[in-house]
This record gives sequence, structure tokens and C-alpha cells, in this order.
Amino acid sequence: MSDCLFCKILAGEIPSAKVFENDAVYAFRDINPQAPVHVLVIPKTHIPSLDALTAENQESATACLLAIPGIAKAEGLETGYRVISNVGEDGGQTVKHLHFHLIGGKKLGEKMA
Ligand code: AMP
Ligand code: ZN
Repeated sequence: MSDCLFCKILAGEIPSAKVFENDAVYAFRDINPQAPVHVLVIPKTHIPSLDALTAENQESATACLLAIPGIAKAEGLETGYRVISNVGEDGGQTVKHLHFHLIGGKKLGEKMA
């Protein structure tokens, strides 16, 4: 997707602070961190959001989730963390490329919404 910010990051057209990469997943630091650790974990294939997940493309989302424990360990999140995927307008999604926020490094608030 040529007009997708995260596809541009994947293509190297926009710089990012890489944290992890494998053949299916790229992870980088959020430019506006909400906690001491705030990493975005994205599939290398363009999927608009979790709402677009199907049996055919689910492997890209699974690959992101499988990468998260190792990233969390490397980031020192031994006492826990939070994973969030915003979906659509009411969900607060601003970038229309599936991503998982990995947030931690402090005791997070109890409120989810
Ligand atoms: P969401 O609001 O769930 O769609 O999350 C999008 C996230 O992307 C926000 O937390 C932004 O701070 C982050 N973001 C936007 N542009 C960049 C960028 N160039 N590099 C890293 N993170 C970004
Ligand atoms: Zn994209």
C-alpha cells in the first residue's frame, strides 16, 4: 500500500528505530511513547486492522503475537506488559496497518477505556 505509513517504514522510506525483525514481522519504537517501553509490532504484509483478519491472512497476525514474548524479554519487561491493537475510528486507530502496541516498563493503569 503506497499511501500507508507503516508500509513506508517497512520499505525504509521513513526512518524507524528497529527493535526486532524476522521474515514476517517488524517491530520498532513508537514515536510518541506512552510508557518507558512502547514498541509497535507489525506484520510485513499490509492488513488494515484486526477487523480484516481472515483464515487466509491470519498467519501474519499470529507471527506478530509469537514475536511479542521475545521482544518483551529483550526489553526487560519481566514483571508484565500490555498488548493493545486499536481498531477503527472508535478504537482510536490512526494508522490503518495492523499493529500491536507493546507497552510496559512501569505499573500500568487499571483502566482499559
Ligand atoms: P494507533 O493510534 O493505534 O493507530 O497507533 C499508531 C501509533 O503509531 C501511534 O502510537 C503513533 O505514535 C505511532 N506513530 C506514528 N507515526 C510513527 C512513526 N513515524 N514512527 C513510529 N511510530 C509512529
Ligand atoms: Zn501498510
